[in-house]
Amino acid sequence: MSVADVLTLLALALALTHFSFPLLYYLYLRSRWLNKPWDIKKDPSYRPRVTIIVPTYNEADLIESKLNNIFEQDYPKDLMSIIVVDSASTDGTVEIVERWRDKHPDARLVIIREDIRRGKAYALNNALKHVDGEIIVITDADSRWASKDVLSKAVSWLSDPTVGAVTCVKRPEEKGRLDIEAGYRDFYNIVRIGESKKWSTPIFHGKLAAYKKDLLIEIGGFPLDIGSDDSYVATLIAIKGFRAIAVDNAICRELVPKKGYHMWRTRRAQHLVQHFIKILGLLSKASREFKPVLVAEAWLHLFNPWLLLAAATILFYKALMGSLTALAMLVAGVVLLILKPYRTWVVTQVYLVIASVRNLWTKEIAWEKQEKS
Ligand code: GDP
Ligand code: MN
Repeated sequence: MSVADVLTLLALALALTHFSFPLLYYLYLRSRWLNKPWDIKKDPSYRPRVTIIVPTYNEADLIESKLNNIFEQDYPKDLMSIIVVDSASTDGTVEIVERWRDKHPDARLVIIREDIRRGKAYALNNALKHVDGEIIVITDADSRWASKDVLSKAVSWLSDPTVGAVTCVKRPEEKGRLDIEAGYRDFYNIVRIGESKKWSTPIFHGKLAAYKKDLLIEIGGFPLDIGSDDSYVATLIAIKGFRAIAVDNAICRELVPKKGYHMWRTRRAQHLVQHFIKILGLLSKASREFKPVLVAEAWLHLFNPWLLLAAATILFYKALMGSLTALAMLVAGVVLLILKPYRTWVVTQVYLVIASVRNLWTKEIAWEKQEKS
């Protein structure tokens, strides 16, 4: 076999590995775990004190309806308090929150104003000092809980002593770049729930992330050196031996930016890459059930995307050198982009590769706000 053929075969092998690994992982979770009953006992009388933390940076357009969305929850009002922690917003966010508080004297709402912006995790740690609940729920200003019972449902899972953290599954709002977003969620929600039924998922959402306060304090609060605060603390809790699960009876929506969509995707991919790099150092501490999940997700976020780039680069080079086989494979890879799941997947890989490179010079800990309303 000539060197040329070896290169083409190598590209084919890389591409096959790239696509088959996630597909097999997905099929494994779907067939083996997705439809299994939860091995969790819920106590219907469990009604802990809950403190909901909303971090804000320039959320004037969204904060009022966010507070309404929280306040409409059917959870007992006397067991629920809200902390808005604002990091030097310049658009009047805090004034809107103050006005909302005046109009809702029955709401237990604390406002914390930071005079310098040091990032979301820093603000969350600041808010932790003022928490009076046993359960802490973090929720972003640009997210909405899809029904009035989302909080009750999410909290109910925490009545089982083995569960340490709970997150929602996402459904994007009917706005913006729907096709990429919606496809992304279908596949990912199934993976999230499959992992959760197996033991725990290492990816949490800032739309609703509920933690037992004691555990959060024990692990030292939120990390200041990476952007993916919610996923990282959930993973630490799972490594400690408690379950960190995504549940399908708590559904959240998130607004998709109308401007700056690519930057938004890149930054979020950067945060996930940072998260999994940090987790690599903790793999040996994970339990037998959780370790395979961590290894699979770390592979998918840190290494797998590069196989696709390598395959494409080789084929491109070979096509330039006049190989018709390479050209045909490359063209096939491009034409397939008309298929939505494939396109969604490839686009995500591109974001992950760009994110890994961009992480070399900026971690985006205090990121630029995207226009969403
Ligand atoms: P994304 O969901 O990852 O795209 O991030 P967002 O820009 O939506 O931010 C998530 C939440 O964190 C929103 O409620 C923001 O207002 C809030 N946030 C972002 N940066 C800061 C910050 O520096 N301080 C505080 N207190 N909140 C922040
Ligand atoms: Mn957001």
